[in-house]
Amino acid sequence: MFDNLSEKLGGILDRLTGRGALSEADVDAAMREIRRALLEADVALEVVRSFTERVREQAVGATVVKSVKPGQMVVKIVHDELVATLGSDVQALDLNTVPPVPIMMVGLQGSGKTTTTAKLARRLTERDKRKVLMASLDVYRPAAMEQLAVLGRDLGIDTLPIVAGQQPAQIARRAIEAAKLGGYDVVMLDTAGRTTLDEAMMTEAAEIKAVANPHEVLLVADSLTGQDAVNLARAFDTQVGLTGIALTRIDGDGRGGAALSMRAVTGKPIKLMGTGEKTDALEDFHPSRIAGRILG
Ligand code: GDP
Repeated sequence: MFDNLSEKLGGILDRLTGRGALSEADVDAAMREIRRALLEADVALEVVRSFTERVREQAVGATVVKSVKPGQMVVKIVHDELVATLGSDVQALDLNTVPPVPIMMVGLQGSGKTTTTAKLARRLTERDKRKVLMASLDVYRPAAMEQLAVLGRDLGIDTLPIVAGQQPAQIARRAIEAAKLGGYDVVMLDTAGRTTLDEAMMTEAAEIKAVANPHEVLLVADSLTGQDAVNLARAFDTQVGLTGIALTRIDGDGRGGAALSMRAVTGKPIKLMGTGEKTDALEDFHPSRIAGRILG
């Protein structure tokens, strides 16, 4: 998994074999490679800085165990720190409250919000045997509402009937009422995104949150997002308040640096990852898998 980086670091540090502890100069040389690997993986600059600093602190002065090469040891420190930053264990969704449990999905337009809403609803229905109601709150794009209705029909999962002229917060209220009356376990609120971060989107999301009091607020974000990942996650977390992140397009070519960036700036767990366009392409987030990919 870490072959490339191992080789690079190994080359730099091989000559150290036999010494007692890693020196600052040796570690600095290794840090340059790590920094390059992280930036190539599109990890945001500020996260690269704080991450390499933490690794550096652990590596300088670390005693080199006789049986391992110094390069391998630094790689292990990097890997462990990466997994720790990404969240050591799989983080499950928290549905532990009185039903219907509201789950709110937020994110930019095109991030995969509607698809992820349907994927999660499918998983909750099929695997967890929950009765799920989905509602689209995207009053700006009738096509988005229709998209969710079509997905619901295909999957045999109920969607809230579309009523023209309602505001998003009103729809949220109606969805929760309908979920209560209909005996649903979970009500999923698919909110409207914009193409860029904007105040109106944040204000609207905060209003919906106040009305719906969601148990989970998931930021749906494209794993191919580069340096913007930090601003995106920070803005949604401070202005709306997140409980977790769902990363989409893990099946793409990206190295997944956004995962590290978003987790590092918000401290919120990545709970799910989308691995394809189909509604069954949803998996729990596995930190060690992404750690390997980030290091290349
Ligand atoms: P929204 O505007 O945020 O609701 O985004 P959509 O759910 O409409 O998704 C936008 C596009 O991304 C669609 O073509 C989806 O099929 C696609 N998509 C969503 N999630 C994934 C994923 O995990 N992998 C891939 N390959 N495509 C995805």
